[in-house]
Amino acid sequence: LIALGIETSCDDTCAAIVTSDRQILSEVLRTQHHLHEPMGGIVPKLAHHAHMRNLPSVVQEAIQSAGLGERGIQAIDVIAVTRGPGLAHCLGVGLNAAKTLAAALNKPLIGVHHMEAHALTARLTTRDPDLPTQDASSSESSVPIGSDPYPSFPFLTLLVSGGHTMLLVAHSVDRYTTLATTLDDSIGEAFDKTARELDIPWLPGRAGGPGASLEEFAKGSTDPERYLNRLPIPLSLRSGKSEMKFSFAGLKSAVTRIVNQEKAGSPIGEMDENKRQDLAAGFQNCAVTHLCQKVEQALVDCHEQGMDISSLVISGGVGRNATLRSRMDEICSRFEHGGAIATDKMSSKEKKKLKRGSSLNATAASKETTTRAARPVRVICPPPKLCTDNAVMIAWTGLERYQQGLTDPYDIDIVPKWPLDMLGTGIVPE
Ligand code: ATP
Ligand code: FE
Repeated sequence: LIALGIETSCDDTCAAIVTSDRQILSEVLRTQHHLHEPMGGIVPKLAHHAHMRNLPSVVQEAIQSAGLGERGIQAIDVIAVTRGPGLAHCLGVGLNAAKTLAAALNKPLIGVHHMEAHALTARLTTRDPDLPTQDASSSESSVPIGSDPYPSFPFLTLLVSGGHTMLLVAHSVDRYTTLATTLDDSIGEAFDKTARELDIPWLPGRAGGPGASLEEFAKGSTDPERYLNRLPIPLSLRSGKSEMKFSFAGLKSAVTRIVNQEKAGSPIGEMDENKRQDLAAGFQNCAVTHLCQKVEQALVDCHEQGMDISSLVISGGVGRNATLRSRMDEICSRFEHGGAIATDKMSSKEKKKLKRGSSLNATAASKETTTRAARPVRVICPPPKLCTDNAVMIAWTGLERYQQGLTDPYDIDIVPKWPLDMLGTGIVPE
């Protein structure tokens, strides 16, 4: 099966063609950054007009560069488009184009939830690490054609970007539960504001933005624990169980307070570079610990509810942070999935250990009821360019939904505000 995907929910005009055996035949992205950057943020009206100008040629290029052969556009089986959430007028441009194309070609239409697409991207790009390698030349990351999409459901998704801080469970195509969102700033904003507060040099246009510069700057820290007792870990464990919410405003204010105190105590009114590096490292450590605590809690909660979580998918710009990735690896490797474990035969001490996420070592493994071996919960990070907005994920989600029989009529409307948990309920907000 071949799908055309269209994405216009925000400030990038994107089209892509993807196959159900997980090949990306083409992907075209026209960014509008140059239009919005001088305005200090995304201007919906400018974005709307740019999408109207750019979408036809973006779609044309995606089709022409996909190598569809003689049949050309007729080779496309499914037309998928972002229906929401996003900027209303921008969504309208993509949806109208997709509906018209689908109707004219008499092809099925799939209106995609943008966040479902972010969550499912990993299933397009990840190779099941337990599959035998096909031949010596095939690289670790190449996805064998015909293999089942990986990760298998259910899995956790942590979306950490400039616009989102979300932890959710993907139960299946069309069914998600949001476990935590942020009460205030997103984690990306927290990194950006802190980088500014610490005067960290940032070259505009450099990949990763201020957050990546902060990560680099923090590597120079010689005493990363210098400020640890003055930096809070947000919403930290209370009575043994942490609240399932994120918050970064308090941590950011603590950084500001320390900077002001240091400046006031300095004869030249400046905070020297060593101290700034230490504070950057301290901030990064607390922000990452905050995320880790919630992920660990989620793994424990899911396990208690009998959910066999296979992996943690991390996406969004902040997912490039190496400290975040290695700390998540460490946590997830302490959890296992896939092996049926007779928890009823465990001692209460072992159950407690399991709840805390400690490794299920020999004792627990010896009590398995089946021969299926348990595997560690894996951390998966899709390639960075597919973690930001793109049409590849929309086309792929269109295929996943089509294969479940989830098509939409040609008269569907945009859904600018659309909680992900509403998918699968049959209810779409007005
Ligand atoms: P969204 O797509 O959710 O609307 P966005 O376009 O701002 O938001 P991304 O491009 O996914 O999101 O991420 C950008 C954010 O990621 C910025 O805040 C940037 O500072 C941060 N970031 C990028 N690399 C790193 C890193 N290595 N460490 C920490 N933060 C990082
Ligand atoms: Fe997005």
